[in-house]
Amino acid sequence: MRGSIKLFKVFGISINIHITFFLLLLLVIPGGIKWVFLVIGVFSFVTMHELCHSLMAKRFGITVREITLLPIGGIASMSKIPEKPVQEFLISIAGPLFNLAVVAVFFFPLKYLIGAENLLHPLSAQTWPLTIAYLYWLNLMLAAFNLIPAFPMDGGRVLRALLATRFSYQKATKIAVNFGHAFAVIFAYFGIVKFNIILVVIAVFIYMAASGEEAQVDIKETLKKFRVRDILPPDFISLTSNTTLAKVLEAIFHSHQEDFPVIDGKMPVGFITRHDIMSAMHQYGTSKSVGEVMRKVFPKVKDTDPLVKVQHIMHEKGMRALPVMKDNEVVGIITIEDIGRVYAIASQKG
Ligand SMILES: [Zn+2]
Repeated sequence: MRGSIKLFKVFGISINIHITFFLLLLLVIPGGIKWVFLVIGVFSFVTMHELCHSLMAKRFGITVREITLLPIGGIASMSKIPEKPVQEFLISIAGPLFNLAVVAVFFFPLKYLIGAENLLHPLSAQTWPLTIAYLYWLNLMLAAFNLIPAFPMDGGRVLRALLATRFSYQKATKIAVNFGHAFAVIFAYFGIVKFNIILVVIAVFIYMAASGEEAQVDIKETLKKFRVRDILPPDFISLTSNTTLAKVLEAIFHSHQEDFPVIDGKMPVGFITRHDIMSAMHQYGTSKSVGEVMRKVFPKVKDTDPLVKVQHIMHEKGMRALPVMKDNEVVGIITIEDIGRVYAIASQKG
């Protein structure tokens, strides 16, 4: 995510922290070391919460590249959304269950260590025992907040997973999204009557995230109906590995194409994107040849692949164009704009 800093890597997942987190730290520093401890403590628990989602996702073959920590919680970017209801259920429940487990496991040890009086005291950071109790109860709040049955909270996904055992995935999403909207309206209402700006901000965030989830699922359902060959533009330009970058620049100017397959004879030997071309020119000027700077390992799709698969590969590999193969030959280039156009037309008709 933009504006985030990589902290460390664990289980192959990079843990990033968003710069707004440091703003939060700056805000609490005048409150003293106990508040700083609280903020860092909450972030540690949010990290572990997200890791639980990620490790469960890994069990189902879904890779998680990074976790970004924001002041409102964490976001784990998964390579795909699990579509099997039982998988989504287990992945979504794993996070809140972790916080509930912390609450269950540490109650008696903490009661013994800091005393029942401190543990059951109203939330405060006045003394160290109270601060530790505060951090402990924040786990219960994290669990409760995340279990609200509305997108984008874990509870929303749990709800969709439960609904998806009875309805279609799309219908289940619609119902869960409506729940999300309803909760957003309730949050906004209380935010306004209590003059609580944070609640209003959360309400807006929930509302938009719920709508975003619905749009995403709709796009996916639409893209399942089309195959690459249904929309593949008939013309495309290919390069050979001894083409110079100067020639490539010309090709970009004279066509609308920005990403090119590299073909020697009939063999696809590489792929080069606009970004590759620009950074190679920046580094070496225009004298290098395509073969020296192209990607030799690159994803390909078949002309019979459904668009949803293409979109998934683009998302996972961070590419906006892919070469299309038919019988070991490149027959075209499909771009993210091609897919966007199909979706725009199909959703107008629908
Ligand atoms: Zn979660």
